[in-house]
Amino acid sequence: MKKPLTGAEVNELIAGLNKLSRNLWWTWNQEAQDIFQRLSPRGWMNLYHNAVAVLHEVSEYELRVHLQESEFSDRVRAVLKDFENYLSDRNTWCHKHAPQLHKNPVAYFSAEFGFHESLPIAAGGLGMLAGDHTKSASDLGLGFVGVGLFYREGYFQQAIDSNNWQTEYYNPVDPKNVPVEPLLDADGERLVCSVEIGLNVVDFQVWRVNVGRVPVYLLDTNLPANEQHFRDLTCRVYGGDSTTRIMQEILLGIGGVRLLRALGLTPSTFHMNEGHAAFLTLELIREKMTVGKSFNEAQSLTKPECIFTTHTPVEAGHDRFSPDLMNYAMQRFCTQLTVPFKELLALGRVKASDDHELFCMTVLALKLSRSANAVSELHGQVSRQMWQHLYNVPEKDVPIGHITNGIHLLGWMKGSVRHFWRRKLTDNKNGEAKFFREKFGEDWASAINHASFWEKMTDPTFVSDEELWALRYKLRRELIEFARRRLLLQNQRMTQGDFIRFDHLLNPDALTIGFARRFATYKRAPLVFQQFENILKLVHDKHRPVQFVFAGKAHPRDDEGKRFIQQIIHLSKHSELAGYLVFLENYDVHVARQMVAGCDIWLNNPRRPLEASGTSGMKASCHGCMGLSIMDGWWREGYDGQNGFSIGEDSHPDNIEEQDRIDSANLYKTLTKQVVPMFFNRDVNGIPREWIKRIRHGMATLVPQFTTDRMVKEYTNKYYAKH
Ligand SMILES: *Cc1c(COP(=O)(O)O)cnc(C)c1O
Repeated sequence: MKKPLTGAEVNELIAGLNKLSRNLWWTWNQEAQDIFQRLSPRGWMNLYHNAVAVLHEVSEYELRVHLQESEFSDRVRAVLKDFENYLSDRNTWCHKHAPQLHKNPVAYFSAEFGFHESLPIAAGGLGMLAGDHTKSASDLGLGFVGVGLFYREGYFQQAIDSNNWQTEYYNPVDPKNVPVEPLLDADGERLVCSVEIGLNVVDFQVWRVNVGRVPVYLLDTNLPANEQHFRDLTCRVYGGDSTTRIMQEILLGIGGVRLLRALGLTPSTFHMNEGHAAFLTLELIREKMTVGKSFNEAQSLTKPECIFTTHTPVEAGHDRFSPDLMNYAMQRFCTQLTVPFKELLALGRVKASDDHELFCMTVLALKLSRSANAVSELHGQVSRQMWQHLYNVPEKDVPIGHITNGIHLLGWMKGSVRHFWRRKLTDNKNGEAKFFREKFGEDWASAINHASFWEKMTDPTFVSDEELWALRYKLRRELIEFARRRLLLQNQRMTQGDFIRFDHLLNPDALTIGFARRFATYKRAPLVFQQFENILKLVHDKHRPVQFVFAGKAHPRDDEGKRFIQQIIHLSKHSELAGYLVFLENYDVHVARQMVAGCDIWLNNPRRPLEASGTSGMKASCHGCMGLSIMDGWWREGYDGQNGFSIGEDSHPDNIEEQDRIDSANLYKTLTKQVVPMFFNRDVNGIPREWIKRIRHGMATLVPQFTTDRMVKEYTNKYYAKH
């Protein structure tokens, strides 16, 4: 028997757990998550894997009792030690490669950040990317701060009504119960800053999100001193009309810079993640004019401080405001600039003298950045074409480069898969463990990002076909159980018969094809069902069954996207696809993780070249799920003929109807000629050898390449540290 812990020792562990729960490091550390799950298994599930909420749910007395179990307190101590080591590590990639950023950090501005299901303040891929960028900045030890908005009601929750029509509702995000902390000033008071919006001065407070070593500051106007409509400004992600939008963007850009100054920071680079943050350039100009620079001088001094990433060729993704709206929203701020308003408008116009041209945030960002980039090679080409008229140089000389997106690998890896790979690293059967220990020490997080780890996947003595196939079965089963639970919740008015029916829904032996994304029209969610009769034949094949799992939200004002959802749910309930096609409501980080892990095929059929990068397919590879995709965005760079499947060629016709027709035919062709036969081509032991070979090759070639670890290093080498 070990000695009981003293009160002081227990207090220290409790303080450690509280600190840990308010640092999102636990979202990519399995041992930390296991501790919170162990404290309250049902709470962990029902509170949506929220460590802060779980700690609130467990009474202090209960926690003390748990901590007197030596097995548990040893685990807690080990995790807290890892956590402290992580926070205090002075031997990071950035300490070697860009130490100057610790004094003058990168300030990364984004209107959305997607970190975890417990903090639902992102609308889609842009936010997920921002979250993953931040996590990798932390892992690499980069001098980096994030700036965003605190949306009190977050992004909408999706419910489907009896007409299969998407409706939206909002769950308040309670700051006390999510992993954020109030930002205080030196005297321990709430830090409050202000920004001019219209004729008013609007105050804002700040919530700090600890993302490992990196702070992200979320601005929040919900203060009693503000008029009600300003208090509501930060209510929802992209909520309201263009007036709300411009005001949110003034808060983000101008307010964000003021906050950083209030914290005493002098960033070396202001990184605008999409045009939403571009008003920050105007605040940087204003700062310089207050110390005597002219408008033109201030611009030339601001440009070297800023970089800009553009994320979409879709027109609606570029904010444009009318001159009247600009005038209204900026009137008080502009009095400090002492230049004719027209000159300010010119910064957001392609033709400075065109009084009718709208003010475009992308143009503002491009004009005031030292570097600009797109998010894949093809998107780089498309962006140079799209903005050539702004530069009047040959297309190839338009100064927009590209850095292809990635994902934060450990953050997306399903818990059971983390355990699987970790065991592979510590299992000492054939000397591999020694190899990796010598290379990476105990640093499993670095090992997992390293190409040398994933190269091992092509070696059957490291991981056998049988092990990989068993893993695939386990993950597919976990997805099916998850889907059945979700579908039960979605259909609450149920009879006993329905329960039985739901327990038979989806088949653990079937080739499972997943599609989950925002239901933006260009992503063409229903494309695969254009060949309806053919698809019916596929799903009803007794020997080679195929099934589909769909999920996704349409923008609240996008009726066409909502019709796509309606169409798919209708098919899932009332056509011969019933039982072979399900739609999971309320797509979010958690649903995404279940799906990319459990599906065999990740379907991606956007209208080329509109998917600038896409990231959900990158989340699939480490789980052994393979892409079946149009040659757009990242897939054009990732696909090598042997690590997944392609739909069509590296080209597209100009005509949209033609494109839809060709793509749907090619999709069906690849499915029936390659995907289905290969999946069901089994040896005597029931193992699809050729399929598994492809999975292995996919892991080796795709996983280490499409990470934010690689991406943030590229941003640092190419942009952050070059200055
Ligand atoms: C990854 C992810 C996205 C982005 O996926 P795309 O492939 O870029 O469409 C959007 N939403 C959620 C919840 C995600 O996890």
